[in-house]
Amino acid sequence: VLEVQHIEKHFGATRVLEDISFSLDQGQALAIIGSSGSGKTTLLRCLNFLETPNKGKILVNGETLFDAADPATQRENEVRKKRLHFGLVFQSFNLFPQYTALQNVTLASQLLARERPDFKQNKKQIFADIEREGQALLERMGLAERAGHYPHQLSGGQQQRVAIARALALKPDILCFDEPTSALDPELTGEVLKVIRGLADQHTTMIIVTHEMAFARDVADQVIFMDGGLIVEQGSARQVIENPREERTKQFLSRYH
Ligand code: ATP
Repeated sequence: VLEVQHIEKHFGATRVLEDISFSLDQGQALAIIGSSGSGKTTLLRCLNFLETPNKGKILVNGETLFDAADPATQRENEVRKKRLHFGLVFQSFNLFPQYTALQNVTLASQLLARERPDFKQNKKQIFADIEREGQALLERMGLAERAGHYPHQLSGGQQQRVAIARALALKPDILCFDEPTSALDPELTGEVLKVIRGLADQHTTMIIVTHEMAFARDVADQVIFMDGGLIVEQGSARQVIENPREERTKQFLSRYH
């Protein structure tokens, strides 16, 4: 479903990503691990068109969404549509504080629905469907009773689960998580990891940047270890996390034991 080819990203003279290539199959979970500053967030931001790579290509379902050598793939008015292939869950939830949990989940779908040719005739039905789907997503996240709560009335773990429901609402091809639990108190981490595990069991295609090694080992089909903007090692979770071949991977993992 996703193919990333030779992505490079510099900020001025700083090379943040170098020759990043990988692919991801439908229904697979990919974990990206690596120390702080290794380029993991920048890579996710490139995939979500929040940064423009200096080199390389990004393909989804065989379609070239981005090619650094082809300006036609970088037109501003198309980027918004291309972003819909990816859902993004941030470290710090980023919910809209003035909206309820349900409104946070349904807002983007409601805005998109306005572009449908049948919107005017079927507005009531369309909004009712969106609300029903939003409610079902909150239920899947174990938040059925919280739909009317505002973010400040929810715990960090609950807020992050709303953020996951919001990302799923637009039915992305690939759901991306940027350290989804690192802003949470340890006792709230488990409930969020459990939801992500559930998504993996249902074969949601995902990319997860995480510092939770046991979680990455259990949930990911594929693991990438990054260091200094490079992919140092890439393979099955068992191979990279339990039997790393590279010295740098071994050193990194030894900090987690
Ligand atoms: P962390 O685990 O701390 O989030 P990371 O692996 O996600 O780290 P990035 O946030 O991608 O790493 O950052 C990689 C490098 O790129 C860092 O050295 C950072 O300072 C640099 N960097 C990121 N964004 C910018 C920017 N907009 N301008 C200049 N340098 C940047």
